[in-house]
Amino acid sequence: MADEFHFPKFNGPVALNTQEQEVLFAINQATAEEPDIEKALDRVSHLVRKVLVFDNIVVYVHQDNSIEPVYARIIGRGKASPAELAWGEALANDVVTQGVSRLIQERLENWEDNRLNLRYILGAPLKSPDGVNGAVIFGRFGGPDFTQSQIQLAEFIVVQVNQLLIRQRLVQRVAALEAERQLRTLQENFIATVSHELKSPLGFIKGYTTTLLRRDTQWDEETQREFLTIIDEETERLQGLIDNLLDSSRLQSGALKINYELVHLDELLRNIVNRTVGLHKNLDIRLFSDGPCEIYGDPTRITQVVENLISNALKYAGGSPVFLTMKKIADGPLDQSGVEVTVQDHGPGISEEFAARVFDRFYRVPSLNNRIQGTGLGLFICRELIQAHGGQITLESLPGQGTTFRIALPVDGRRKRSDGDDSKNTDS
Ligand code: ADP
Repeated sequence: MADEFHFPKFNGPVALNTQEQEVLFAINQATAEEPDIEKALDRVSHLVRKVLVFDNIVVYVHQDNSIEPVYARIIGRGKASPAELAWGEALANDVVTQGVSRLIQERLENWEDNRLNLRYILGAPLKSPDGVNGAVIFGRFGGPDFTQSQIQLAEFIVVQVNQLLIRQRLVQRVAALEAERQLRTLQENFIATVSHELKSPLGFIKGYTTTLLRRDTQWDEETQREFLTIIDEETERLQGLIDNLLDSSRLQSGALKINYELVHLDELLRNIVNRTVGLHKNLDIRLFSDGPCEIYGDPTRITQVVENLISNALKYAGGSPVFLTMKKIADGPLDQSGVEVTVQDHGPGISEEFAARVFDRFYRVPSLNNRIQGTGLGLFICRELIQAHGGQITLESLPGQGTTFRIALPVDGRRKRSDGDDSKNTDS
């Protein structure tokens, strides 16, 4: 049906009645107070309705050469009909192109019988110093038409809506800049840490190899073995570092595979303890286990996680006894029964301020680490590997009293995959 178009004509400022003044004040307050844009727009829409009757409101914003609806509500008549997001789009396009408010009347089929088909639609532009960013569309089904003072009121309200959108864009821009800054710092730290971590074992390897190769000096067999042992240990450290870097990048890209098999967890933990005691003669490490326990998981990866946590306890809580516990849990944090493994030390602990970040890639607690070598990859890898099994890892720590890492693993990590949310991992 034919649409009637006309531009509103204004006859100077409108005098606001007391209710309108109160509503405008409340709108101002809502836009200033409410940090969530959606909630702020909901509050504004409901306040506006007290002084400007409308059934539909849609906010369009200019994005990549087109306008997109970013907020839409059906408040009055037509509430029961499904929300049409594209509603008012043609008018919004006109308003954005021309940069002025427009008012149209649409008469759809059967408009005489169905009030919803007689639509008065008002569009007002969202203006900013760099142009028109979008439009707000108000619709009234079945009339009455918008009066000139209502149009002016609507324009004032649209200015408030615009302030909200500008603030949201600023917040997003600041967040993007902050993310960029953090990424740059992370990359700089990464290069510094990795170069430092690579340099120190390489320095030992080079130094002791050159010494052994000197033709002008003879070394007795014991000294030669001592030097070769250092070279062997430092090579292992290099290998560990490179493995960590590769694991971390595979985990980031989703390329790391979990090879599931039946694991006798109690035996696996006992073997880890025996190996650790073999390597660190003076270490007091104790295992408390519930007895035989079978789960489906990747034994290599579970070993890697537990050894990493024990090695951290050795590094950061040197001298303190380490307690390793394993117990079955019927209703833990997972959606199936599982098993809980904890690694506890009585070292310096991690203060709350840093605890939330220690699982982040490359994160190291600043004060602790001047003396202790590391890359900040270990706990990131632990968390990713445990999550890939459908499990969880958390930490509890009291500064000065020690740290407990708590791992919850499901009895069968493969079950999570059938839910379709763990596509990264495969069975053996
Ligand atoms: P790295 O040991 O290579 O620095 P991790 O990711 O394993 O990296 O650990 C991250 C940080 O968490 C460490 O730098 C350390 O500050 C802290 N941390 C880890 N384990 C412990 C622990 N048992 N006690 C105190 N601090 C710890």
